[in-house]
Amino acid sequence: MPLVPMRILLDHAAENAYGLAAFNVNNMEQIQAIMAAAKETDSPVIIQASRGARSYSQDAYLRHLMLAAAELHPAVPIAMHLDHGNAPSTCFSAIEQGFTSVMMDGSLDEAGKTPSTFDYNVEVTQQVVDAAHAKGVSVEGEIGALGGIEDGHGAGLSEAEAQEHLTDPDQAEKFVAATGVDALAVAIGTSHGAYKFSRKPTGDVLRMNLIEEIHRRLPDTHIVMHGSSSVPQELQDIINAHGGKLRQTYGVPVEEIQRGIAHGVRKVNVDTDNRLAMTGAIRTVFADDPEQFDPRKYLGPARDAMQGVCVARMTAFGQAGNAGKIKPVTCKEMVTFYKK
Ligand SMILES: [Zn+2]
Repeated sequence: MPLVPMRILLDHAAENAYGLAAFNVNNMEQIQAIMAAAKETDSPVIIQASRGARSYSQDAYLRHLMLAAAELHPAVPIAMHLDHGNAPSTCFSAIEQGFTSVMMDGSLDEAGKTPSTFDYNVEVTQQVVDAAHAKGVSVEGEIGALGGIEDGHGAGLSEAEAQEHLTDPDQAEKFVAATGVDALAVAIGTSHGAYKFSRKPTGDVLRMNLIEEIHRRLPDTHIVMHGSSSVPQELQDIINAHGGKLRQTYGVPVEEIQRGIAHGVRKVNVDTDNRLAMTGAIRTVFADDPEQFDPRKYLGPARDAMQGVCVARMTAFGQAGNAGKIKPVTCKEMVTFYKK
């Protein structure tokens, strides 16, 4: 099956009231872990790469690894998505490289460090929507700014500062009308990275009620939750029990994500949990078997650990069991859909 535009996966998820995890990748083992989990659970797949991941893995490696995933798993619809494109040119180069979906994050300026103006955001996002939809490629936009930094991208807002850049539902409505994005990332108090919350989040810091309000106003827009790793205690413990030194931290509880999915969230970005799982597995091998020096002996367990996280999220978000139900559509075929 060729790679599919993300829009068809989100539409199917909306019609059937489930959410899709979007997992970040930058190497072969991570792609293999996601695909093994998809096979195990019959899940459609969103794999995403940030600008940092693209430069780390190099576009050509990434493209061919994704094509290998599609070749080896013909029954699984896979969307390949650019995470946090910082400028239209970044989105355009991703489209040239075969990405079937791009995020234009105009909530920050091009350097990806400072919150931008609403007008700037609309302008750059519009440009990307026009060019992407003409090729059948899906577009995610963002309104409001998240906390933390991801792969060098982010204003580095603290947990408290992030509360000042939450998505304004009024602006969200105007933004979607002006740009025609397929999906909208919203800021509801989550942050990128492992250190999201200093205690288990409650409704005053993790504003799930904002999602409900945005969904009420934009019932046909697919909502995206960023920074939505759950940062499970047991993964932190495995790392710290084997020489790691993570500070105690809290993520977004899976039950809160499920509440979001009940209110229009269709894409849930998960990266940190997979990083923690892989790191814990590698640390365990190194601690238990210090003589080991075969990369397969630690990258293999790391891959297995990530697969476990992916299976758990795919199941919890409800995407499990749906791969076989989706009629694949190519980007080319999608062009007519956008013309209407
Ligand atoms: Zn993000």
